Amino acid sequence: MKKNKVIVIGNWKMEPETPVLAKEIISSVSRQSRLLKKVEVVVCPPALYMGLFKKPANKNFFLGSQDVFWQNEGRFTGQISPKMMKASGVSYCLVGHSERRALGETDEIVAKKACAALKEGLRVVICVGERERDSSGTYFEFLKNQIRESCKGIQRRHLSSLLIAYEPLWVIGKSWREAMTPDNIRETVIFIRKTLSDMFDQTVATSVPVIYGGSVEPENTNVVLRGGEVAGILVGHKSLVIEDFIKILKSADEI
Ligand code: PEP
Repeated sequence: MKKNKVIVIGNWKMEPETPVLAKEIISSVSRQSRLLKKVEVVVCPPALYMGLFKKPANKNFFLGSQDVFWQNEGRFTGQISPKMMKASGVSYCLVGHSERRALGETDEIVAKKACAALKEGLRVVICVGERERDSSGTYFEFLKNQIRESCKGIQRRHLSSLLIAYEPLWVIGKSWREAMTPDNIRETVIFIRKTLSDMFDQTVATSVPVIYGGSVEPENTNVVLRGGEVAGILVGHKSLVIEDFIKILKSADEI
């Protein structure tokens, strides 16, 4: 993670349907990422497609995973260890995405995964975000606890590989018109930094990149990055639409 580079992470979730389509997106995005000056691109495909990424990727283009297990050895059917990820060219791991939390992943599990992946030298993106907002602001308390619990046990020496992705559930999978306003993003990022400062210290609070995810499309990339004062964006549905993802990358490169 180069200092001052804007990070754009594409989360493909359980798409596209075929490896042929996956290859098509990868080669277009890889080609485009070579031209970027200020952006670091991370693509998180379903694990089955990871082998389609050519190694080494170019200097702006990184392979990410949508999840990781917390053990390196043992009988764990269906899981992929941090060591395997590292050995297979993965640089970034998403941990605690809201769709995984919805399947039963707790803060405790998220923290175990984050610690294990960080120990293996992977960059870890812990996803946090409230389900809804209420007028009395109790979501701030929820967010604080989620961050505290999801980061539990992370060693200080690993903090330079940690990122926080703020993804409010109520704006995921919609359109840019329904995304959070830059002012609201900025306010929440300040709150996240305050939480990190209370947990660690001010240096950590300012150095851990906080990125935003939730209905980022070409139309709002610029305002989210500029007005939201975030270090990057996490893009879901639009990371699968080649033309739009490339527009997002270009827009981020112009910040
Ligand atoms: C996500 O699920 O991480 C995400 C940001 O999705 P979308 O861009 O579709 O809102």
